[in-house]
Amino acid sequence: MDFQERTLTSPAAQSMRKLVEEFKKLPGISLKAAQKLSYSVLCEPKFKEILKNIIDISENVEICEKCGTFKPAGENCANCADDSDVICVVATYGDMSAIERNGCFKGSFHILGGLIEPLEHILPENLRIAELKERVLANPGKEILLALPFSIEGDATTLYIKDSLENCDVKLSRIARGLPAGAAPDVLDRRTVLEAFNGKTYIN
Ligand SMILES: [Zn+2]
Repeated sequence: MDFQERTLTSPAAQSMRKLVEEFKKLPGISLKAAQKLSYSVLCEPKFKEILKNIIDISENVEICEKCGTFKPAGENCANCADDSDVICVVATYGDMSAIERNGCFKGSFHILGGLIEPLEHILPENLRIAELKERVLANPGKEILLALPFSIEGDATTLYIKDSLENCDVKLSRIARGLPAGAAPDVLDRRTVLEAFNGKTYIN
């Protein structure tokens, strides 16, 4: 075994390779980025501290199975307990953050976890639509405000939700048209989001 072979198969080199593989499992991390992160973690003590902090913080937070928002681990969900008259339905956590940041809605949220996209194998059962119906049945007389994009997927999801809630005691509304086609609230500026919320229409 020559020097290069010994170096590549040494326990330290194998650990480094495992570390790179682990980082690569994270979304958006390329091989190059994974190598850079692995090197930083091994060479600089402060990076080990950052990783520990990430684990500590993430262990204290979990996703509420009913509404899809984040809640303190092991505790009741404040968003589900919010008894405001309107529940705002969004596709993603990013959309909810954008709406909260813009201050145009201050009630309870429901995060679907995406939009219906059969070609991407995202079907209604992969989204929190059944959970939305459960919330509606448990809270009759509420308004469900759909803040979904005006795209093929957004329209398909809206139609599916409308059908699912057909015989329920619920008012169903959707934010106004006027949003650029395919744009989610996540990427829109405050004025556009405000106008969309102010011009909502009832669809049932
Ligand atoms: Zn919840």
